[in-house]
Amino acid sequence: MNVVLLVEDDVALRWMIHASLRDDDVEILEAGSGEEALRVVANAQPDLVVLDLGLPGIDGLETLRRLRGVSAVPVVVLTVRDALADKVAALDSGADDYVVKPFESEELAARVRASLRRSAPPLPATQVFRTGELHIDLRQRLVTWGGVPVGLTKIELRLLEMLLEDRGRLLTHDELLDGVWGSRPRGGGHERLRVKMVHLRRKLHDDAAHPRVIFTEPGLGYRWIAEVEEVEEVEELPVAGGGPVATEPPAG
Ligand code: CA
Repeated sequence: MNVVLLVEDDVALRWMIHASLRDDDVEILEAGSGEEALRVVANAQPDLVVLDLGLPGIDGLETLRRLRGVSAVPVVVLTVRDALADKVAALDSGADDYVVKPFESEELAARVRASLRRSAPPLPATQVFRTGELHIDLRQRLVTWGGVPVGLTKIELRLLEMLLEDRGRLLTHDELLDGVWGSRPRGGGHERLRVKMVHLRRKLHDDAAHPRVIFTEPGLGYRWIAEVEEVEEVEELPVAGGGPVATEPPAG
């Protein structure tokens, strides 16, 4: 049973969201203000918080900042259309995802389910993934497309790893920069990141204009969108030309 705290002052909208999240496996708590939300989090320790940014009293962003001081609970933020600065501020303040108002209740429900899945105790980490022609073996650090090895640089591989391991979630520019370069390169590094992402995309045969693998959230970051099949065992790869040399002698 997951406990979801819904923070929204608009009672009609709260009711609508409540109805869309209703599920045998979810208990929904409600709060109409940031102050109330902080009290509920302290007392009930929910598994996820849906937080509207437009709240009376302390606003959603301030609520989020205070919340992050005491809890790592996943937070999905509700924000109005085109308020890019708000989205960036929310993600920088520790939101895990955001949904833009007006939204379809199914979309929010799907985001909530995805966040809950991500925050669930990790399953044994699969290291080998397949999507379409793309085959990614993180353990061997081997990526092939159509059976042909794709030569990735260390940075490209790290970006791929981060996106893949957190697939579905928006990874912000800052998260990716921190994850790849550790400390931030001079000048913010956003252009450097963008260039690396162009190279990575090209090597994965993905197209920024019609993305199937990596989706760009303009001004925010990147999201892995491809459906991925997790391959339990390392398979014999039909590696064409180059690639690691098989160490086992041929059978027979
Ligand atoms: Ca509101």
